[in-house]
Amino acid sequence: MTLADRVLGVVDEMQGEIVELEQALNRIPSVTGDYGAISKYLRAYLEGMGFECDFIGKDGKPNVVGRLRGTTGTPRLALISHQDTVPAGPGWTVDPFGGDFRDGRIYGRGATDPNASNVVYLAAARALGKAGVRLKGDLVEAFTVDEEIGGADGSGYLTEGNHVDVDMAIAEGRNNVIWRGYSGHMRFLIVSKGKAAHGNAPWLGDNAISRMMAVMNGLERYQEELAQQRSGTAGLSYTTLLVGRINGGVAPNVVPDRCEISLDVRVIPEHDVNDVEARIREIIARVEATSPQYPFEIQQQLKARSTVVPEDHVLVRSLQRSIKRVRGQEVPVVVYHAAGDARFYMYRGIPAICYGAGDSAKNKIHGADEFVEASDLVEGTKALALAVMDLLGVEG
Ligand SMILES: [Zn+2]
Repeated sequence: MTLADRVLGVVDEMQGEIVELEQALNRIPSVTGDYGAISKYLRAYLEGMGFECDFIGKDGKPNVVGRLRGTTGTPRLALISHQDTVPAGPGWTVDPFGGDFRDGRIYGRGATDPNASNVVYLAAARALGKAGVRLKGDLVEAFTVDEEIGGADGSGYLTEGNHVDVDMAIAEGRNNVIWRGYSGHMRFLIVSKGKAAHGNAPWLGDNAISRMMAVMNGLERYQEELAQQRSGTAGLSYTTLLVGRINGGVAPNVVPDRCEISLDVRVIPEHDVNDVEARIREIIARVEATSPQYPFEIQQQLKARSTVVPEDHVLVRSLQRSIKRVRGQEVPVVVYHAAGDARFYMYRGIPAICYGAGDSAKNKIHGADEFVEASDLVEGTKALALAVMDLLGVEG
């Protein structure tokens, strides 16, 4: 029996323990900002496996960082996920923090995002320990704050301060896909101003909604142009501009003096976020020039450039081999149309891809009755345990 077989056998015996860990995490409310209980739980679990742990964060925000020292200390791999969830929201048929387990599914806010990844990262380390595996390289596990609101004080803070000093990273993801990178991602709040006037004499005012419509028409023409330029990268389509929210005006008979939109922009790797941003600003500037006394306000709320790991990188190949051994088949390797925490590592030259547990299409992530299949947790645990052994090397 090989060491890998032994590890897979240990994970099979751990099924009950894996489900209980998922239930325990789901029962600890950890909506963004509420880190007291979840951070202590994760830290204690890591320490129980021999990880050296710290709370590292700005303004007392407790990012949990643990390091399991290997026999040689090289290479160093980090598994990165997060503590926070989005709020439970309405429409649940079970208690979002009850940890219900039925028909092979564990329910709860955060069941997949992020707890499924958290469970498989912890359980993989547990399985390696139980099987007596001695890793050569260092295994770091980090569970961060604020991922659901952009991650600046989470993975952003940890990477800026080099608090997670590693050679490669695997970040939160799902069972049925490897994300080897992200598109670029930007978000803007755009505000048009004008002059209020009575609706019986609109010529005395300056209509902020009309001016925003001119901007939106310009954005739509730009979108049509962008849609012609298809990405050659699997998983991506074209650069998208989405006005996802609009707000303006106070009453039917008042010329509106203010209108605001939220613009979400996903940028394929073939395009540069700076070029796309310049075009958007140009569209706004042209409209602004028609009433320069009322300048537009532009707040950029997110700017992340595209980050992509090569398809033949050792991280991708090792993980894909491990997944194939467990699942019986390979999974698609794609670039994801969003910006997640792995980008912070990529910005610092640390290759990072995404893999974890759950299914984005099925599991009602961020919705009511979010769940994860117990079998997905077991599969993810096995694949990660094998990949960690392969990437870090083992003694004996
Ligand atoms: Zn997540």
